[in-house]
Amino acid sequence: MENMRLSGGKTSYTKSLRPTVKMLGIFALIAVTFGSSSCGSDQDAERAEPLLESEEFASHLENFKAEASARGFELDYANLVIQFGELAPGQRASCDLGSTHKPRITVVKEKWDASSGASKELMIFHELGHCLLNRLHKSHMDDEGKPASIMHERNFDDEIYSEFRTDYVDELFEEATLPEIPAFFQRTPGR
Ligand SMILES: [Zn+2]
Repeated sequence: MENMRLSGGKTSYTKSLRPTVKMLGIFALIAVTFGSSSCGSDQDAERAEPLLESEEFASHLENFKAEASARGFELDYANLVIQFGELAPGQRASCDLGSTHKPRITVVKEKWDASSGASKELMIFHELGHCLLNRLHKSHMDDEGKPASIMHERNFDDEIYSEFRTDYVDELFEEATLPEIPAFFQRTPGR
């Protein structure tokens, strides 16, 4: 990992100027400013555990993990981030894999807070479907007029979801196409 020390180059310059206390203060301020900006994003950092902004995200993730392992899936959750943030108007949540292929789910807090428990699970499972199971949207309805999948692109009635939850979760994993991860991308968790 690169460690930028932008203030280091100033040392000989300040020495030759015989700096006053006031000037040292200014240089200290510059060093702090550069120091904080060079910390930058944590997008590239390797983590051993998912980073979850809310306890509720943690409990929905635990449920997803349980459903995944019950079906024999071994997924890599280490670098997953679930956070609150802003999205385009009309969007409730989104999954971004970015250039580093690290799954980052963003949820709009106002929409989250206004959702029922079933809708919240639906929202997280849908995004994990994109991020971890490589699922795309599946927009059609089944013969009874219900959305055929959690991966339906519109929100659907949380009562329908609750009533047919097992079928929906089965479908989510049955249609999964796990991405082939190139060897150079594979990392040992916790390294
Ligand atoms: Zn989606």
